Amino acid sequence: MAVQGTVERKYVYDFAEGNRDLKDLLGGKGANLAEMTNLGLPVPPGFTITTEACQEYLATGREPDGLAEQVAAHLTALERSMGRCLGDPDDPLLVSVRSGAKFSMPGMMETVLNVGLNDRSVVGLARQAAGAGGQAASAGSTDRAGSAGADRFAWDSYRRLIQMFGKTVCEVPGEEFEHALDDVKQARGIRDDVELDADDLRGLVDTYKKIFRKHTGRDFPQEPREQLDLAVRAVFDSWNAERAVLYRRQERIPADLGTAVNVVAMVFGNLGPDSGTGVAFTRDPASGAQGLYGDYLANAQGEDVVAGIRNTIPLQDLERLDKRSYDELLDIMARLERHYRDLCDIEFTIERGKLWMLQTRVGKRTAAAAFVIAGQLVDEGLIDLDEALHRVNGAQLAQLMFPRFQLDHEVQAVARGIGASPGAAVGTVVFTSARAVELAAEGQRVILVRRETNPDDLQGMIAAQGILTSRGGKTSHAAVVARGMGKTCVSGADALDVDVPGRRFTVAGRTVSEGDVVSIDGTTGNIYLGEVPVMPSEVVQYFEGSLDPEHIDNALVRAVHRIMTHADQRRRLAVRANADTGADAARARRFGAQGIGLCRTEHMFLGERRELVERLILARTDDERERALAALLPLQRADFVEIFREMDGLPVTVRLIDPPLHEFLPPLEQLAVNVAVAQERGEDVAQEEALLAAVRRMHEENPMLGLRGVRLGLVIPGLFAMQVRAITEAAVQCARDGLTARPEIMVPLVGAVQELETVRAEAERIIADVVGDSGVEVLIGTMIEVPRAALTAGQIAEAAQFFSFGTNDLTQMGWGFSRDDVEGAFFWRYLELGIFGISPFESLDRDGVGRLVRIAAEEGRAARPDLKLGVCGEHGGDPDSVHFFHEVGLDYVSCSPFRVPVARLEAGRAVVETTGSDSR
Ligand code: ADP
Ligand code: MG
Ligand code: MG
Repeated sequence: MAVQGTVERKYVYDFAEGNRDLKDLLGGKGANLAEMTNLGLPVPPGFTITTEACQEYLATGREPDGLAEQVAAHLTALERSMGRCLGDPDDPLLVSVRSGAKFSMPGMMETVLNVGLNDRSVVGLARQAAGAGGQAASAGSTDRAGSAGADRFAWDSYRRLIQMFGKTVCEVPGEEFEHALDDVKQARGIRDDVELDADDLRGLVDTYKKIFRKHTGRDFPQEPREQLDLAVRAVFDSWNAERAVLYRRQERIPADLGTAVNVVAMVFGNLGPDSGTGVAFTRDPASGAQGLYGDYLANAQGEDVVAGIRNTIPLQDLERLDKRSYDELLDIMARLERHYRDLCDIEFTIERGKLWMLQTRVGKRTAAAAFVIAGQLVDEGLIDLDEALHRVNGAQLAQLMFPRFQLDHEVQAVARGIGASPGAAVGTVVFTSARAVELAAEGQRVILVRRETNPDDLQGMIAAQGILTSRGGKTSHAAVVARGMGKTCVSGADALDVDVPGRRFTVAGRTVSEGDVVSIDGTTGNIYLGEVPVMPSEVVQYFEGSLDPEHIDNALVRAVHRIMTHADQRRRLAVRANADTGADAARARRFGAQGIGLCRTEHMFLGERRELVERLILARTDDERERALAALLPLQRADFVEIFREMDGLPVTVRLIDPPLHEFLPPLEQLAVNVAVAQERGEDVAQEEALLAAVRRMHEENPMLGLRGVRLGLVIPGLFAMQVRAITEAAVQCARDGLTARPEIMVPLVGAVQELETVRAEAERIIADVVGDSGVEVLIGTMIEVPRAALTAGQIAEAAQFFSFGTNDLTQMGWGFSRDDVEGAFFWRYLELGIFGISPFESLDRDGVGRLVRIAAEEGRAARPDLKLGVCGEHGGDPDSVHFFHEVGLDYVSCSPFRVPVARLEAGRAVVETTGSDSR
């Protein structure tokens, strides 16, 4: 044991040692900083502390052995390469301490800038900035900065350090710093931070230190290495901050990855008008259009842009301010796109005319942009169609199928912001996260309106239909998080004057208060007062066949068409739809369904037919019952004819009646009242009383586990027989009309092969009788939805020509809970505790329920090699579940008509799936 312990783990990597494939170890930011360093791009030097160090710290509560020494060694190397020492009083090296996990978690974790400043080094920094060939002074810039400007810069940097360090490392409430800053601005009668002079800032540092002492009981740490160590520890801790935990759950990012920490030599965007900082995308992350998209802020440190605190200028305007840096930036962006073969987003700083790259990553994008960009990159020869297919997903496609605003009449936007995340959202205005959550819980649709959002607004953003802010660009917190959640967002609508305490905003002379309705368009950025009607998406129109992709000028529809076509070519799984009516069947077919995987027959017992069901239930003799069934037969037959017509040539799986019969009768209380009232009036209540008695007799404690499915068919003579006859006669009738009906009769809730054999024997007699020489072929199979059926699938397959997995029931019975009861009662807690990553009703539980599916598929196929296998639960339209069904080797999935395109796309993606995607 002792021997092994002598080999020390490597916890710290210089940027030159890493590369972009080391995201697990170095986090996304660190891996990409290393990649850029190795590409020869201008990245300030630095090093990365690994996620493994973080994991060990989180597990044991202390820094792993050897970490301190390794950090010291890398710091020394950094100091040597910069020619300055951390916090040196005369010429200090400053660093930023930046979090960076494997998956980007925008604004979720902590960053501290200007580490190394203290009461002495702030003076040295000012002196260096003023001239004397120090770090900050590039040739010729000293005159402009002047010593007043340099002082200002140094004290501004120091107050930022105390503010960020206090807030993120020591949990000092951030507002206290902000209020102190506002007070100084107010006292001086200025609006913008940049107008504060050195004296203001020096005073502010004093105030900040007092605030710091008040909340922490100690003085702001002056020792640079202590600052660094505490900041590193705070970044580690931030992994488990509440908002980070919540975001991970939302995005389904595993909880045990940990974050890396990047220590980077500071460069300064706040050195004067020839400095600044910005963020940019290499293409439009909202539409995918090619061009330059970014925000720039002169004389500022990076935080200012991202936080949306000051109004930025479009990146294009940088050309006017600093053509050399601008050209270099464009050149670097083009290189990055070619290198990563994808849209990149970047963060950069200009220090006195010198460009520095501070971050890049494959950029997040809207659903529309994902498709458009994938198509463009294929055109540019950077990726192939398989890769394009891999880079989009079903969740994005689903989002594009949402409706949009209908603007062909007198609708006038009251203002326009930045279309930050597309979609059409209508709702009641609210101004706080808490209120959003409250009203949403009451079932109201709300729009969260803020000046800007911050991570504390996350709950409200989740609850809202859309988010509207008056500040911040496409890269503000609101914009980035909304895009990640697929939520409509309009940001930077600066015509809005938002008054959060007063719960109202004013715009164009109108006042909008909490409770008023607005409509926001996340594509155009338009804001409308009142409710604007919505219309279907172009993508849906394309699927519906009313937009021809070859003949319209719509980049999105063309890209969707191209990628869908490729998905269809690649996929092995067929996709069917769940549809109960001719209209549903027709729509499903237009959406590309290759058959119906589940046609429920329950609705055929509703409406005017209820009365027949009552007669069936109350029948005292065989004769009465047979007459009721005979009356139902032609009605059912007509329903099937309609569906078979729409699905001419394609298979249609019809499930025999599943729910308990009393579900078709009035509720007990209502019947009891009816009887009482009628008796009171002296009316004849024989019929009502009989019904009431029947309902009482049929009452079940656990209807989910009661007399339903095949059990019903075996108990009520003639019921299944009538349905089998209706199906077969409908098929024969279609055949006579020159159509091809391909019915597949599906028996629900089978748990033992004997059940199926019994039903099958009777069905076969009827089918043989009806089919005659019509050429109609009818298959008989079963649902696999009871665990026992899955475990005895080998036997059941002897009697079944197909299996269709009913994964809703299989999930209920596999876990032993009823969906209606558990989702509200305790699922939230299970999700919170991580017992589920996601509800097993939403996405198939691969390990448990999935195992049942796998066993049944394997043993069923072993018994009957040509057994057809499909799935008809709601999981059939869930992307992750589709991939599982592909893996297990099913023949098809079946889902609701609207999800059919999603399933087609995901079935294609399952084939081309490779590991190590950048595009999360
Ligand atoms: P986030 O993950 O929230 O984007 P970052 O670690 O990227 O946080 O830091 C936020 C901002 O701080 C960056 O956009 C960048 O402008 C600025 N910043 C970080 N490190 C440095 C540095 N070494 N020099 C100058 N600015 C920096
Ligand atoms: Mg960043
Ligand atoms: Mg079922």
